[in-house]
Amino acid sequence: MAQLGEFELIARYFTRPAHRAALGVGDDCALLAVAPGLMLAISSDMLVEGRHFVSTVAPERLGHKALAVNLSDLAACGARPLAFTLALALPDADEAFLAPFARGLLALADRYGCELVGGDTTRGPLTIAITVLGEVAAGAALLRAGARPGDDIYVSGTLGDARLALEVLRGTTAVDGAAFARVRRAMEEPQPRVALGLALVGIATSAIDVSDGLAGDLGHVLGRSGVAAIVDVDALPRSADLAAQPVAMQRECLLAGGDDYELVFTAAIGQREAVAAAALAAATPVARVGRIESGSGLRFVDGAGRDVAAPASSFDHFRAAAPAST
Ligand code: ADP
Ligand code: MG
Repeated sequence: MAQLGEFELIARYFTRPAHRAALGVGDDCALLAVAPGLMLAISSDMLVEGRHFVSTVAPERLGHKALAVNLSDLAACGARPLAFTLALALPDADEAFLAPFARGLLALADRYGCELVGGDTTRGPLTIAITVLGEVAAGAALLRAGARPGDDIYVSGTLGDARLALEVLRGTTAVDGAAFARVRRAMEEPQPRVALGLALVGIATSAIDVSDGLAGDLGHVLGRSGVAAIVDVDALPRSADLAAQPVAMQRECLLAGGDDYELVFTAAIGQREAVAAAALAAATPVARVGRIESGSGLRFVDGAGRDVAAPASSFDHFRAAAPAST
């Protein structure tokens, strides 16, 4: 029998009806009602050496990324960061690693007022598991299930640079030294879109952060919302470094690249001005890239309306050989 995929595995063994929780397994965060009108948003993400990062990553960046990928899930729900726990497996107590790792981690924590309140420390292969807690008003969280036919689809920032860095490391393409420094930084030091997520509360109908690639992650929104989508690949925002790559490489990075930690969200057409104002308030660029339709499935087209083949599959920890995302 074929090996279980990551999402089938979660669905079969770890997904149960939520009783205490307002929202359980299956979204970027779980939600628990903790006070009248207030939800606690909870999310966990783990980074494993050799799987999510290469051993040559600067420890300061690794500390940053470990928290950033968790804050990104709060952002996708429109939740405000409160606190986090840190579970660490370390091969040894190497202070040359620990000092810069903690510096990177805590600098990002301080930026968002997100306090380290506990954790666990053990010897083992380098693994960083964080659980982050945030708050959001009851009924206000941005969920994967809210996209409606006719909604616009938006993407924040640019997509694909983290994957481009990975492809350069793999030797499948090349960029110059300055470009490599930029795309490597995108891969190792992603900026969680917390301000944008907060600004989109009450405006966006659904949201997800892009950790496994646009095709797969937007696919999760479509599945949970029971809708279809059409996306113009030529409208997808990309850096000048990615735009300098051959079209096939650009599309692979844009559609299947993971580790971007940008937000993909939907909003009714009547909210275009509100979306632009939210983007401005959050100092985060957003681009309109497609439309939600009724039915099922995700269709990609180019600027001339011609069909573009979807990537074979998005990242799955138990199906793919490639290293990637959380
Ligand atoms: P994300 O990319 O937003 O971090 P994932 O794709 O990792 O989300 O996970 C999909 C959903 O499955 C999330 O709701 C996550 O909380 C849940 N999940 C993942 N692993 C487990 C597990 N072992 N037990 C329970 N829920 C899980
Ligand atoms: Mg997520």
